[in-house]
Amino acid sequence: MPTPQGTELHHSPNARFQSGNRVYRIVVLGQGGVGKSALTLQFVSHIFQEDHDPTIEDAYQKQVVIDNHPGILDVLDTAGQDEFTAMREQYMRGGEGFILIYSITEKRSYDELYRFKEMIDRVRNYESVPIVIAGNKSDLGQRRQVSTREGEAMAKEFNCPFFETSAALRHNVEEVFFEIVRCIRSKENEDYL
Ligand code: GDP
Ligand code: MG
Repeated sequence: MPTPQGTELHHSPNARFQSGNRVYRIVVLGQGGVGKSALTLQFVSHIFQEDHDPTIEDAYQKQVVIDNHPGILDVLDTAGQDEFTAMREQYMRGGEGFILIYSITEKRSYDELYRFKEMIDRVRNYESVPIVIAGNKSDLGQRRQVSTREGEAMAKEFNCPFFETSAALRHNVEEVFFEIVRCIRSKENEDYL
């Protein structure tokens, strides 16, 4: 199977450090249209792109300093069908942290996250994997189908942080990406104990 452009780094075992910087491999998952690309591009490039091609899957890198520690975030903005493809399995294996996104305006996208979580658990043999949940499109409150409580309930179930976000308003965008790095770091520290 050909490797999609831009994702090689994700699957390279040598990509853990780049010029001395720790590289954090983050995978963004969620139903089509929830704002995976919008959130990723808002985080990486400070732009809100309303019409990002829904079929494009690409990896982006951003250098950051989080809690006084530098790092490079390697973010895979996934796209495409929901089936459990070989490619999906591959990046679920390679990801160190997962951002699971639903849209507060679509209940189905919330329900869908249970399926993504189950896929991750299966691929990772039910070991704990860093996850952050984002309930996106918080600026569209008048079309809300998922309550904040429901988001919090899922986060409790998954034992992970939760934010309502707006890619459009750049609300809680950095928080989500920073938090997943914190989760990866604290898991790494636990693993050394
Ligand atoms: P993806 O398929 O998950 O990558 O979704 P996109 O990032 O392509 O976004 C799908 C649509 O939702 C686009 O028209 C975006 O402009 C819109 N969108 C994404 N995030 C937000 C948001 O936070 N607020 C609003 N109002 N629209 C958003
Ligand atoms: Mg997209």
